[in-house]
Amino acid sequence: MRLDPGERELWLRLCDAEVATLEAYAGGTDTARAIDLVEAGAPLEPVEPGPDSGLIAACFSGGRDSLTEAAMLQELGQRPLLVTTTSPRDGSVEHETPRRRYVLDEIQRRRGLELIEVHSTLRGCWDTGFAAARYGAGVNELTDTFLYFAVALAVALARDARAVNLASHTEVQENRRWVGAIVEHKHRMYSGATQRALSALFAPAGLRYGGLTYPLYQFQVQRLLERRYADLRDLQYSCWELSADQSDCSRCDECRTIAFNLMAEGVAPREVGDRSRVRAEGAVPLASAAGRDRFAAPQRALVVRLATGPLPPNAHARAHDRLHPAGRAAARSASRGVAVI
Ligand SMILES: [Zn+2]
Repeated sequence: MRLDPGERELWLRLCDAEVATLEAYAGGTDTARAIDLVEAGAPLEPVEPGPDSGLIAACFSGGRDSLTEAAMLQELGQRPLLVTTTSPRDGSVEHETPRRRYVLDEIQRRRGLELIEVHSTLRGCWDTGFAAARYGAGVNELTDTFLYFAVALAVALARDARAVNLASHTEVQENRRWVGAIVEHKHRMYSGATQRALSALFAPAGLRYGGLTYPLYQFQVQRLLERRYADLRDLQYSCWELSADQSDCSRCDECRTIAFNLMAEGVAPREVGDRSRVRAEGAVPLASAAGRDRFAAPQRALVVRLATGPLPPNAHARAHDRLHPAGRAAARSASRGVAVI
């Protein structure tokens, strides 16, 4: 298979941007292009624009963002076709729990939506943490949404949908210049810039790729789900550190942020999943040995500092950016002097 030279360069530039971002996280400077695409055989045939069924293939995981994206598309008069990728991996049972099965069934029943589930073995094919010590990110943090987009793209082509939507949020749009490169958030796999680049690639085939929530902070997406789409809020399935019999772990960073944002909106965390075990002294579990082991180096350093001394400059403020302002106040008062990240 051979790619059009322009497409070949696009994929390599996406790799360059990933390398620059990872090196910045690791404090390194090894950003010279060292990745190549080896091609052979006939050129890849371009995809011709097909008929338009009016559907939008909407990636759906059951998390806050994809629940809200589906509801927004419906409210705007669109016809979302939900696409779920089931791909178990070592280190998490998030794709295999009864709770997830319940969420996938309920979104169809409550909103009359069709959901197509595609199984993939890709996420189980690598050791996701093999480079986490250097880069502070697992392989799946760089690749998951590329897989979900690819699956939804195939579904879109099969069902004559002209758009693929995958929900994003403002936090992953962070970027800055660094030693001549553009460095993005480590979850740049679904930043608006990445989505726009892929959308441009598939535009000649009549396909668009994007989403509705990317300009919103997570707490704003959470607020939309809680207030505007309250019939769906109990379905939220965001935690990947849960055990097989749980709906969430109630101990991780994600669970705690959700709990405080819910409380800021006047919603009891127990109404969404099973967050009854969230502890007010939220930083304490993370400072335990078991908690520290779950975190990659940069975040682990912050957690240790939380337990032993003053925070590094800006770390407290940056971590709190993820919380709704009222949630920050709740976190401060609930923790009584223990910084909650
Ligand atoms: Zn959790």
